[in-house]
Amino acid sequence: MRRISVLGATGSIGCSTLDLIGRDSGAFRVVALTGGRNIARLADQARRHRAEIAVTAHDECLPDLRAALSGSGIEAAAGQAALIEAADRPADWTMSAIVGIAGLAPGLQALRQGKTLALANKESLVCAGPLLMATARAHGADVLPVDSEHSGIFQALAGQDAGAAERVVITASGGALRDWPQERLAHATVEEAGRHPNWDMGQRITIDSATLFNKAMELIETHEYFGIPPDRIEAVIHPESIVHAIVGFRDGGLLAHLGPADMRHAIGYALHWPARGDVPVERLDFARLGALTFRAPDEGRWPALRLARQVMQAGGLSGAVFNGAKEAALDAFIARRIGFSDMARVVEAAMDALSGSTAVAHNAVPDLENVRRADQLARQAAERSMAALA
Ligand code: NAD
Ligand code: MG
Repeated sequence: MRRISVLGATGSIGCSTLDLIGRDSGAFRVVALTGGRNIARLADQARRHRAEIAVTAHDECLPDLRAALSGSGIEAAAGQAALIEAADRPADWTMSAIVGIAGLAPGLQALRQGKTLALANKESLVCAGPLLMATARAHGADVLPVDSEHSGIFQALAGQDAGAAERVVITASGGALRDWPQERLAHATVEEAGRHPNWDMGQRITIDSATLFNKAMELIETHEYFGIPPDRIEAVIHPESIVHAIVGFRDGGLLAHLGPADMRHAIGYALHWPARGDVPVERLDFARLGALTFRAPDEGRWPALRLARQVMQAGGLSGAVFNGAKEAALDAFIARRIGFSDMARVVEAAMDALSGSTAVAHNAVPDLENVRRADQLARQAAERSMAALA
């Protein structure tokens, strides 16, 4: 029986992960499940999957979690230290599916066990790619990408070194506002930006899809995870979300990864790797699909892509600045403090403000404290820029 932990179990990726585990429950033993304020869901998951421990990120939620688990024999815990302790419980396979930089420290802790980390938390690669990958190497842990594009690249490479790839193309649906006239974008609401045409995901990544900040993060994720130089990584708009990634080799041949827009494929691939298991996703009917279309992204409309290229060029802790400013701008958009188009302006202003800072220029592999400091500085710079906007 493989021991499994799911960090961020109550979210979209966490629920899909437990869906797959529940279909084959004889093969897995659930160790730790973590969540936020949705205590009813966390307790229900812990009971259904007979977890050893359930952890909420919020101290004030602990009495509710204890009450919801009473009589079950399942441990309950809360707070940051408890999240790290959950990630440290011996497990063979851990899903990292907390959203944002909050997922970084628990993910690093899980890597120190030297087992397998299924990585959905792309923010940890964006803000601390070299640290994450070095930690995995130092402890002999495997990191498996759980993003549809990166799982697709991984599968298309089929064990070959990424150096064999001449180019890598990741696709973007274009998000909820893809077909809006540019002048309307500034007035897009949280509800409008949060309605994805193809994928059913958490609110934050759905809005990041509409700004293309999600694709921007994925360009950086490709660079950090596979070590592919930025000038070999492309993003293309593909409204159907059927082709997820394409790898081009030096002989001119290309291998693409196709599948329905269902994250259970990428999760299931990581769960069964290096074998392939049965995953209950829809089987594609190509005659019914008819056509697959592609077009170049308009970087004027979606400045996030240009900012991602700056991050990859600058290196150091610029990814932590980019991510921290983006998280602050997204919080402000969700709180209706700034407009949709302001998010990219705020991120760019924070990046500009910190571009010469010694806290950001960093040649060696940064440690967690360096990353957190850059993240804090970025959030402060973003707040200053938002104050100037108002
Ligand atoms: P979600 O918002 O649905 O779930 C997030 C989870 O993290 C929840 O369990 C929540 O309780 C927990 N969480 C939130 N803030 C936390 C904090 N400060 N401390 C501890 N726990 C916290 O998000 P999601 O859509 O499932 O995405 C999770 C991660 O996977 C993100 O990094 C996202 O970019 C990535 N991802 C998601 C999808 C998708 O289809 N949803 C696809 C690719 C990658
Ligand atoms: Mg993706």
